Amino acid sequence: MIVMDESNISFFKDGLRLDGRRADEVRPIKIEVGVLARADGSCYVEMGGNKVIAAVYGPREVHPRHLQEVTRAIVRYRYNMASFSVEERKRPGPDRRSYELSKVSREALEPVILTSYFPRSVIDVFVEVLQADAGTRTAGINAASVALADAGIPMKSMISSCAAGKVGDTIVLDPMKEEDNFGQADMPIAMMPNGEITLMQMDGRLSPDEFRQAMEMAIRGCKEIYEVQRKSLIERYNQIEMEPISPQEVESQ
Ligand code: ADP
Repeated sequence: MIVMDESNISFFKDGLRLDGRRADEVRPIKIEVGVLARADGSCYVEMGGNKVIAAVYGPREVHPRHLQEVTRAIVRYRYNMASFSVEERKRPGPDRRSYELSKVSREALEPVILTSYFPRSVIDVFVEVLQADAGTRTAGINAASVALADAGIPMKSMISSCAAGKVGDTIVLDPMKEEDNFGQADMPIAMMPNGEITLMQMDGRLSPDEFRQAMEMAIRGCKEIYEVQRKSLIERYNQIEMEPISPQEVESQ
């Protein structure tokens, strides 16, 4: 039996990656806003082979009540992977990995949410991974950020998320599953459009120079994704017919 590891897998063919991308290219990304009727805000994201959906509820009353904060809303984030989202059936329900991803994703989004506007309430974010191909936490954060905006939650800015990795001694942007599973390093980040970083994790090893290169690449990836997020929201709200406001109404406001 041949065991696949970084020493016997070739990540490049004719200078391109296994899915035909250059080292500094993100996977194709598709964002659809307002896909769920019963959620206050929702978003569907495809990033390469990842398919995720985010639903936002709130601000609403907190249950259980002892979790209430008198000065601000609390934010809850649940990352969940469907059992059919990976090659072999994933055991349903929360596990160590989903607790970790829920925590870091919440911490990636919380800094931009104006929670002090809604004391004693909760903003619930649910992220369901329907199909996984590495980078589900970044796809989930991108979807959640758009879903929060769709729910009308006041935010300082959007959050965009993307990973960089190292495979075959080369720094690559937005690793897909083979690169993530058999590569040398994986570094997901999330950031505001002004460059403030709200998430940074790393698996594997990078030298200081490689780290700088990976960081630069991931920041560029986030900027590209931000443009798609922005466009998807503009597209959605351009479609909604607004009632024209009469001059009298404008005066009374
Ligand atoms: P991320 O999806 O954010 O990159 P990981 O690095 O933990 O998070 O996972 C990388 C990829 O490994 C996932 O996107 C998925 O394709 C695969 N994976 C994760 N957990 C499982 C699992 N329980 N069973 C099968 N594949 C999994």
